[in-house]
Amino acid sequence: DAPVEKYEYQAEVSRLMNLIVNSLYSNKEVFLRELISNASDALDKLRFLSVTEPQLLEGASELDIRIQTDQDNGIITLTDSGIGMTHQELVDSLGTIAHSGTAKFLKALKDSKDAGSDSNLIGQFGVGFYSAFLVADKVVVSTKSPKSDKQFVWEGEANSSSYIVREETDPEKMIPRGTRITLHLKHDDTGFAHPERIEKLVKNYSQFLSFPIYTWQEKGYTKEVEVDEDPAEAKKDGTDDGVKKKKKTKKIVEKYWEWDLTNETQPIWLRNPKEVTTEEYNEFYKKTFNEYLEPLASSHFTTEGEVEFRSILYVPAVTPMGKEDIVNPKTKNIRLYVKRVFISDDFDGELFPRYLSFVKGVVDSNDLPLNVSREILQESRVVRIMRKRLVRKAFDMILGISMSENREDYEKFWENFGKHLKLGCIEDRENHKRLAPLLRFFSSQSEEEMISLDEYVENMKPDQKDIYYIAADSVTSAKNTPFLERLYEKELEVLFLVDPIDEVAVTNLKSYKEKNFVDISKEDLDIGDKNEEKEKEMKQEYGHICDWMKKRLGDKVASVQISNRLKTSPCVLVSGKFGWSANMERLMKAQTV
Ligand code: ADP
Ligand code: MG
Repeated sequence: DAPVEKYEYQAEVSRLMNLIVNSLYSNKEVFLRELISNASDALDKLRFLSVTEPQLLEGASELDIRIQTDQDNGIITLTDSGIGMTHQELVDSLGTIAHSGTAKFLKALKDSKDAGSDSNLIGQFGVGFYSAFLVADKVVVSTKSPKSDKQFVWEGEANSSSYIVREETDPEKMIPRGTRITLHLKHDDTGFAHPERIEKLVKNYSQFLSFPIYTWQEKGYTKEVEVDEDPAEAKKDGTDDGVKKKKKTKKIVEKYWEWDLTNETQPIWLRNPKEVTTEEYNEFYKKTFNEYLEPLASSHFTTEGEVEFRSILYVPAVTPMGKEDIVNPKTKNIRLYVKRVFISDDFDGELFPRYLSFVKGVVDSNDLPLNVSREILQESRVVRIMRKRLVRKAFDMILGISMSENREDYEKFWENFGKHLKLGCIEDRENHKRLAPLLRFFSSQSEEEMISLDEYVENMKPDQKDIYYIAADSVTSAKNTPFLERLYEKELEVLFLVDPIDEVAVTNLKSYKEKNFVDISKEDLDIGDKNEEKEKEMKQEYGHICDWMKKRLGDKVASVQISNRLKTSPCVLVSGKFGWSANMERLMKAQTV
């Protein structure tokens, strides 16, 4: 017989297994979701590879998932004809934690102080393969990769810190390709090994899967059989001749078992948007991206003509766990399909500018080659057009949120992704027109609630030409600056740019609806009340004081000037017309440490 190798779990896995086995009692049925999702990933990988290597499909051309229950012995088997695992892959994958979902879970677990919420967390994040131990005390994985000519078995038990790997030798257990997982259910969980229960769970969890799932179901059909008539009955008729027995037909139910297709496999994005409900879109989102909150908005569209593709995009309601890097996002938020075949979730950067990296969704193109690579994407005209359309749709979707009656929705969006849009103002000149209306700022007349530029423009005085702003590190310091005195007096609204990136964004925009952005802390501020006569007079009277001050201050200032911008303060320090503002100066300093 083949030798049995014993391996220890990575420490994190041990801890996780311990938690799963000993302290999680609710939400157990998520094990099925996790195993189905792994099977589906494995099928996706195979389908993708088989495009260029069709021989991979040899021996088992069907790509499907089959789930069988054995009620008497409390066993569930789940078989997929996917990519399978080699010996090395088996040891690397089942015994360590190298994947996103589970890492997310462990992080959330660390963050949650309340131990009682663990079982909720498991439902939200999933713990991948190990969730099999929610219901099983022994799990056997038998797997055959097309890259290997041998089939291998992984065997683990609930309260053990090690697992074993050996070669599969039982001829009855051989599979042409893929993975079979056998769950030996815990005594209290044998109820899961019931065909109807499994059917219900599969329907619930794999609504949007693109591979068929078959479950092993008991069926019955009625058939008519001829039986001899009961002699007693015959006698009553008075037809008993004592020799001939009368025949009679009777209906009986013949039982048998067969594979039953349990899910619908048409991808949701191929359906007519008019026929898909918001609930379905939200469900699809949660299942596809492993999210537990509904998205803030979604958009489903098809483009035809020059370039043909379908897409569903979403704006999440939360920022991703942990510290997100908007400069170098590694998001896996866009799942690219070519003619229904899942290609990769690694091409976000090719399909969206990085400042929109928070948008999630699926994109299915008919015009790209199936063996598409990053290089092809980067040079493709088709992709350039797709990108443009996707960006436009993303903006429409965000604009939709901003116009929602529920102001809170956009506040939430802004809090999460406002920074991204400001980054967009810096990086995407072409879309300034779409970005600007989405920006929000505090102002001298709205310190509590942020306003849009449209609201600002509406509130402008009839003779006001510019949009005024002051950059500061908080609303409090903005509203206390002496620069504001005269503008307050004249009831001119001033935007408070309190996020360090605000000023850079606004300077990049330059103007909105043909009104320039003007920094009120710079020299030569013209708020429309210049009185040349008076200025001349003042200059004559106080000119020599200015000269004297300049002499005293020397290089510390560029010049000392008379101005009409103050009301109560005697003097103020302003920035030169072409120099950096004080805020920018602060920012640059902070960046060059
Ligand atoms: P994740 O799916 O997030 O990667 P899992 O714990 O669910 O994490 O699975 C761990 C790894 O085990 C997968 O990434 C995959 O490499 C491998 N795996 C699990 N199930 C299968 C399967 N049915 N077929 C092939 N590989 C699998
Ligand atoms: Mg998984």
